Amino acid sequence: MRPRIGLSSSSIDAGAATSARRCGVNCTYLDWVTREGGAPLMLPNVDPDAATAMLDACDALLLTGGDDVAPLLYGREPERQMGQVDAPRDEFELPLARLALERGMPILGICRGIQLLNVAAGGTLRQDLASDPAATVQHRMKTAGGPAVHHSIDIVPGSRLHTLVGHERMAVNSYHHQAVDDVADGFQATATSADGVIEALEPIDDRNILAVQWHPEVMPCERAESRALFAWLIEAAKG
Ligand code: MN
Repeated sequence: MRPRIGLSSSSIDAGAATSARRCGVNCTYLDWVTREGGAPLMLPNVDPDAATAMLDACDALLLTGGDDVAPLLYGREPERQMGQVDAPRDEFELPLARLALERGMPILGICRGIQLLNVAAGGTLRQDLASDPAATVQHRMKTAGGPAVHHSIDIVPGSRLHTLVGHERMAVNSYHHQAVDDVADGFQATATSADGVIEALEPIDDRNILAVQWHPEVMPCERAESRALFAWLIEAAKG
């Protein structure tokens, strides 16, 4: 039986020709979940009252990449350089993530997913690394051609991430301009870039939760370090 993996979705700007609001998920996430043995279920951004019943249909949750989380949701004012916010998504995904945490569901967070998870659990975010003098590594890569890695990360020995990827240092891609600031209670940073930016979060206990700041799903399908993360989620979802 394929476990059912719920994936959070982004609002899609339908353009000037129509006022219809749409939701979508990059197929890279859907393809990875399917290839590693799961059945992906897209979770549209609707009234959060529906989140409980929607999660009932899922065995695990994948919090996907997307726009910036609205700063008021973690108790801060917006800084000048922060990016676009997806309000319907914030309004649905934050309660969704909190519900999944309450239920002890397996969760994999990617990019915005690590940020949203941290906010859902009570943490805060850095709003723009590019204008932050402390962030000396380039975290928003600009590359022509296919998937590539961009900067290194150091992984805490003995962490879940270390167990899964098998190295204490690895190269990752980087397509973000925000990052985790204060880590939520009950969580710990288990990977950082050379400038100290948090690149992975895990719970301090053995809950099946892992979140990363890079994009394993845009790497080639034979990449072992990406396969390990998706395979872990599928196995955890089989519970
Ligand atoms: Mn990065």
